[in-house]
Amino acid sequence: MSDFSNVKVVLVNTSHPGNIGASARAMKNMGLRNLTLVQPSEFPSGVAVGRAVSATDIIEAASVVDTLQAAVADCGLVIGASARSRRIPWPMLSPDQCASKVLAEASHNRVALVFGREDAGLNNEELQLCHFHVQIPTDEVYSSLNLGAAVMVICYELHKAGLRDIGTVNPEEDELWDQEKATGEQVEHFYEHLQRVLVAIDFHDPDNPRQLMQRMRRLFSRIRIDVMEMNILRGILTNIEYHIKDTGQDSDKRRADE
Ligand code: SAH
Repeated sequence: MSDFSNVKVVLVNTSHPGNIGASARAMKNMGLRNLTLVQPSEFPSGVAVGRAVSATDIIEAASVVDTLQAAVADCGLVIGASARSRRIPWPMLSPDQCASKVLAEASHNRVALVFGREDAGLNNEELQLCHFHVQIPTDEVYSSLNLGAAVMVICYELHKAGLRDIGTVNPEEDELWDQEKATGEQVEHFYEHLQRVLVAIDFHDPDNPRQLMQRMRRLFSRIRIDVMEMNILRGILTNIEYHIKDTGQDSDKRRADE
């Protein structure tokens, strides 16, 4: 049996506690245990416990956090479930591709499967915290599943892929990598650093951002940078900052000398 202990399901801002219970039940049916709730409207909740039936242990052990960033801070792979395609296209997986990817990575990376609000899904900022989006194919006239049903489909695919137990994923890329992938928290620090430097060298104007940081996020999400590569990039940024400071001081000094 596959081990999904490194996989968590994250539900963002769920309004109906019944959906939390239904999601917990779906998870337990499919062998997943870790549930993280980002600012649920109503939790703890008797309705959630009722709908969970024999999965109340998952509800009881659920962690509750304030932001999606906090929920994925320890994760090296983040996949967001979304019914809609967005303005900036993002790497997209089908549910079975999602399952293969998760299975291939879960032995050495923590993985988050993220689901949005019942009324509005995930917002753009949240979708950009994900390396991939997963879309469940539906009839085109009505593409939005009930939240608990969406959790079920994604967890079922994962369970099914676990039963098949693969060996079919590309081991060179996914399993034999020499470094861990950078976690959500490390990547967020990198983006802050990158933005600071891009502003300092006058490349980026926060008042006229033109989606630059979104595009940078998409670029680095696609690459799925590892910890060593991240350290190199942070080192380069730090050196750029030193040089800017030096040149700044030089020109100050030059001005003072003049
Ligand atoms: N009305 C919202 C959908 C909310 S459904 C919207 O249009 O975005 C609640 C959540 O279930 C979604 O945020 C998503 O995570 C998941 N979901 C529902 N339908 C899905 C689908 N077809 N593919 C992938 N995820 C889906």
